[in-house]
Amino acid sequence: MAKVQNIKGMRDHLPQAMLLRQHILTVVQRVCERHGFDPLQTPVIEYAEVLEGKLGDDEKLIYRFEDHGGRSLALRYDQTVPLARVVAQYAGQLAFPWRRYAYGPSYRGERPARGRYREFYQFDADIVGSSSPLADAEIVALLSEALAELGFPDFVTLLNHRQVIGGIARASGLDEAAAGGVYRAIDKFDKLGASGVGEELVRMGVNTTATEQILALVQTEGSPATVLATLREHLAGDERAVAALDNLHAIIAALEAMGVPPERYRIAPRLARGLSYYTGLVFETITPHWPEGSLLGGGRYDELIGQFAGRAIPTVGLAFGLDRLHDVMEELGLGPRLNTTATAFVTIFGHDLAGEAMALASELRAGGVNTLLSLDPTQGLGKQFKEADRKSARYALVLGPDERDRGEVVIKDLRDGSQRSVARADVVAALTP
Ligand code: AMP
Repeated sequence: MAKVQNIKGMRDHLPQAMLLRQHILTVVQRVCERHGFDPLQTPVIEYAEVLEGKLGDDEKLIYRFEDHGGRSLALRYDQTVPLARVVAQYAGQLAFPWRRYAYGPSYRGERPARGRYREFYQFDADIVGSSSPLADAEIVALLSEALAELGFPDFVTLLNHRQVIGGIARASGLDEAAAGGVYRAIDKFDKLGASGVGEELVRMGVNTTATEQILALVQTEGSPATVLATLREHLAGDERAVAALDNLHAIIAALEAMGVPPERYRIAPRLARGLSYYTGLVFETITPHWPEGSLLGGGRYDELIGQFAGRAIPTVGLAFGLDRLHDVMEELGLGPRLNTTATAFVTIFGHDLAGEAMALASELRAGGVNTLLSLDPTQGLGKQFKEADRKSARYALVLGPDERDRGEVVIKDLRDGSQRSVARADVVAALTP
């Protein structure tokens, strides 16, 4: 028989992993709803032309195929381009600014590695129809809240603006066409280091003086105020760069006012981010516990929706990579370690008492206690306890003839083996924390 296997880069998640994933999802969703974001769902498959021309170099990673009707289709690459399509298609029904969140799988033909998959789940949050720096700040505040609630001990969001890098390129004597190449080279900073990026710039034809200047500026470090001041000094004559610095300044001021702890964000002029649709703020959240790359990222894309809608609709958003959050949380032991959804396991004493056991299980479920019911009244209690233990239920419940006569139930705690009798009417309360 052929080996049974799934596709490389696409993962199965068994229950224990799923329970942690669902916890992550619940927390992120709760934080989004706390900020008044509403849910959106779009299909996993789009017309290929919807995705084409939006992703720059990454377009080669799109999964394409033809359906039975000969239509040219693609698996969604992210949830941003489908959002842009939705906004164009339903603009009349949406009240802007519109805050939406969406959760689901995205597909990229990447070379799989730890934290990099071909099918992965993204949780996106976007504010559509606002160019206010308060919208940018709210997205960063939201992610800071979500990661803190998930228990991440130290993470920091690196902030930059597309026109800061553009300004750095221009200040180094490069024309607009060359600026794109500079983004791409700088985007590899974490992978190649300063010297690697320098070599790449020189290979692109940037002279050594300009290369040195670019490298010095993109490595500017310090508090947001210090970094902004240094950049202002060097980019003073460049109108677009100055506007970008003003914008970053306003975003930082809003983050402060919103109470985001200052150690949670930093301006990093070297941050480029690969996707070509960003026009303003770009950001990535990193943690020393995940040196391989970013936990999540996002930015402002004021032009993308216009490609569908015919008019620009300014938008800012982010995508949490559920798989990365999951991998890092697993590694750091963050979040609950659950093996099952069930709290109670109701045993069946014998055929005569099967009906009582079923009624008890129904009462527990109605009372909000997640309950497994034994399926085999012919099995001895010992075997049923073993099954309850294997299923990781916390409690096994016994309702034998004596308990029935006394109107009681025995609750056995499978963690420590202790047991107690409880009046039938009090069982739900006894199992509810
Ligand atoms: P992007 O859509 O490229 O901006 O990515 C947003 C986030 O999605 C990243 O920060 C990751 O957390 C996650 N992500 C992107 N690509 C992958 C991948 N191939 N596998 C797992 N997670 C990914």
